[in-house]
Amino acid sequence: MRILVTGGAGFIGSHYVRTLLDGGYPGYEDAEVTVVDKLTYAGNRDNLPAAHPRLTWVQGDICDLPMLLELLPGHDAVLHFAAESHVDRSLRSAAEFVRTNVGGTQTLLEACLRSGVPRVVHVSTDEVYGSIDEGAWTELSPLLPNSPYAASKASSDLIARSYWVTHGLNVSITRCSNNYGPYQHPEKLIPKFVTELTEGRPVPLYGDGANIREWLHVDDHCRALQLVLTDGRAGEVYNVAGGTGLSNREITTRLLKLCGADPGMVRLVADRKGHDRRYCVDDTKIREELGYAPRTDFETGLARTAAWYRDNPGWWKRTKEENR
Ligand code: NAD
Repeated sequence: MRILVTGGAGFIGSHYVRTLLDGGYPGYEDAEVTVVDKLTYAGNRDNLPAAHPRLTWVQGDICDLPMLLELLPGHDAVLHFAAESHVDRSLRSAAEFVRTNVGGTQTLLEACLRSGVPRVVHVSTDEVYGSIDEGAWTELSPLLPNSPYAASKASSDLIARSYWVTHGLNVSITRCSNNYGPYQHPEKLIPKFVTELTEGRPVPLYGDGANIREWLHVDDHCRALQLVLTDGRAGEVYNVAGGTGLSNREITTRLLKLCGADPGMVRLVADRKGHDRRYCVDDTKIREELGYAPRTDFETGLARTAAWYRDNPGWWKRTKEENR
């Protein structure tokens, strides 16, 4: 079994690859993995083992068709994580989001088609659905993305669907809620807040802090992806929910407690433009069809995650310096 992972030096992709190499997915203990990653500001080679007998590392861009056509033959599956992933950056400049998330996905799918790759999983997000005041989105809900990031991901989902409908490429799409866990870039809310508080600085809270997000441990997301890879149906979309809906203010309060910080260490800042109020997905389909259930209890997962950032300052300090 040979699996190619795009974006495998990022937060979620590297968790998937480390778990795969550690034998964490039954039946895939011998799988060989090729990681293709451009190493943008968000990618970190140190997120993966420096050397491993079943790992092949390739620094490359998913927009590079000749490179992909050379690499892909012989692979049994592709897990596509590579993307520009930070909403705030997409508000400042959307071009790279369209280039990688839309153009890169199309290039990758075209290369998979031409190389005869038998299975592809396209990793997407619940943000493609927009914002919902009450209830939860199913896979049949309309795509109403609000940020350029979400719009580029929604576009990539439609491209993936078209490669299934038009060409019969065996591709499934997943739409997951917010992830948390170790190795997440310190520009994202949880690592940002924990690392700022660890360094004794106040944390910025957008607007009134009432925006609601659902949080899922990265390990549960990756197990859901593995289930979709092995048992998901071609052309289908699978939502993956967090289960724990919290306002940004609530999660901030929990992080302040976990870091032993004073409640006054919060700085209210102007709201993000077009800030989605609430995300909530219904993941009945993946639970009933593929037997998925998350395992990580949120309290425990959050406490362990906060401890990981506090215990690994070497991992995030340089990245934060570079991005200040
Ligand atoms: P990340 O920003 O941590 O990692 C992205 C990786 O992609 C980086 O290693 C980067 O170097 C690489 N990359 C970027 N452009 C590339 C290109 N043109 N060619 C090759 N590699 C490139 O992102 P993440 O949080 O790990 O997210 C992974 C995927 O999961 C994304 O597709 C994202 O939309 C999706 N997703 C993320 C979350 C979340 O909460 N983080 C939730 C749902 C879905």
